[in-house]
Amino acid sequence: MQMFLEGRWMSGGKMQPVINPYDGKPFDEVPVGTAAEVDRALAALVRGAAAMKALSAWERSKILERAAELMTAQADDFARTITLEEGKPIRESRLETSRAIEVLRLSAEEARRLCGEMVPLDGTESGQGKIGFTLRVPCGIVAAITPFNFPLNLTTHKVGPALAGGNAVLIKPASNTPLSALKLTRVLLDAGLPPESIACVTGPGGALGKAICEDRRLRKISFTGSYEVGEMICRAAGVKKVTMELGGNAPIVVMDDADLDKAATAVASAGYANAGQVCISAQRIVTDRRVQSDFVDALTMRVKGLKSGDPLDESTTIGPLVREGDAERVANWIEEAAGEGASVVTGGKRSRAFLEPAILNNVTSAMKVGREELFGPAVAVMPAANLDDAIRMANDTRYGLSAGIFTQDIDRAMRFAKEVESGCVHINWSSQWRADLMPYGGLKDSGFGKEGPSSAIREMTEEKMIVLHLP
Ligand code: NAD
Repeated sequence: MQMFLEGRWMSGGKMQPVINPYDGKPFDEVPVGTAAEVDRALAALVRGAAAMKALSAWERSKILERAAELMTAQADDFARTITLEEGKPIRESRLETSRAIEVLRLSAEEARRLCGEMVPLDGTESGQGKIGFTLRVPCGIVAAITPFNFPLNLTTHKVGPALAGGNAVLIKPASNTPLSALKLTRVLLDAGLPPESIACVTGPGGALGKAICEDRRLRKISFTGSYEVGEMICRAAGVKKVTMELGGNAPIVVMDDADLDKAATAVASAGYANAGQVCISAQRIVTDRRVQSDFVDALTMRVKGLKSGDPLDESTTIGPLVREGDAERVANWIEEAAGEGASVVTGGKRSRAFLEPAILNNVTSAMKVGREELFGPAVAVMPAANLDDAIRMANDTRYGLSAGIFTQDIDRAMRFAKEVESGCVHINWSSQWRADLMPYGGLKDSGFGKEGPSSAIREMTEEKMIVLHLP
């Protein structure tokens, strides 16, 4: 596919292949964008931002609603594109597509709902006789820098609210998975978006990132990806608004009074969906020692039932990782943990980009799998003596994105909810659940700022204070 900038589709000088992770073969290609093209894209987006500013909230919301309709009509193609470029099982890709449609609809609603507030100025002595209120205005140009693992929905989570708030958008999709973002761009243009208000520049982040993030024509950067890249972006951004949606290694606590069937069912899905390449994947399963063996048995039975294979096959539940190198890294971490005393209950063998879904038992937080972000189809069971111990272990990490606890005791659940250092806490479910309208974001090294259209539209607009000085 071509990339989109300056209001038109164009090829660059050099092209890069888009590889299908299932067979390692190229099936499409996109331009390798350059810093010069980013510069041209931004020059046009300045005009595009003015065009967006001129649209009413009703007009913006109509464009987003039409885009949702068009995406619905092309849902099969979107799902297939996600699977081909990312390796996600087709059933999960369909779900991702329907979620992206929902995000467009939620963004359309937020466009209509965005408002300021009355400020009771006469609450101060100097404010007597004055009336104050705030207005929300667009930032101007928003950059959306997105990761590979939800190439459609996470891009929509940035582009939808940015447009709803009246901004122009520059998309920089992940190098491995550019097609979903390009197709999202096409749908928005077909829905009537002013052509200069959007650009989607493809190519490696290392080369384009600096040109994007340092540019002063941008007022806001919304980034989802790894901590390491997020930190580089923050340094390059200077005085700009930034949202950082970074990594995680979610803890799930299974207490001795937990419904073990429910916990095992939830973890067997949450640890392995998208081959574990989800920022809120269940990774560290902190299990009360008294139920550890029963829980591991219940989980093992379910994990052995997962089916690896061609992600386009309807019955496949585990596809390949996005790159062979990632599968190799995850396999090495598993081997390293085994060498340090963990036991591999099942899985862990690699073939090309595929990794057999694995369970590691008796992991400690000194091991990489118990401490860093694994981003692969494996979970680490870590024994705990009691709730105090479990909370301490859950918090023994630099990340804090999502967490879960299984217990029948509301007091324990609420204590965990208050004390665990995590942007989201699930009671009697795993970390990996998200409704697209909820505020979503991390603590600690998992980042700052919130997504979910009602939160994101506020992060992508600025607040102006208006004061009426009455006679
Ligand atoms: P990544 O950090 O490698 O890349 C993310 C994006 O940044 C890509 O578009 C990449 O091209 C770009 N990039 C790379 N170098 C850059 C630079 N110097 N300047 C600007 N942009 C640059 O992440 P990934 O491997 O695509 O995705 C996996 C990571 O994303 C994991 O850590 C995962 O936890 C995280 N993630 C977080 C969330 C969340 O909501 N918190 C959601 C999904 C994924």
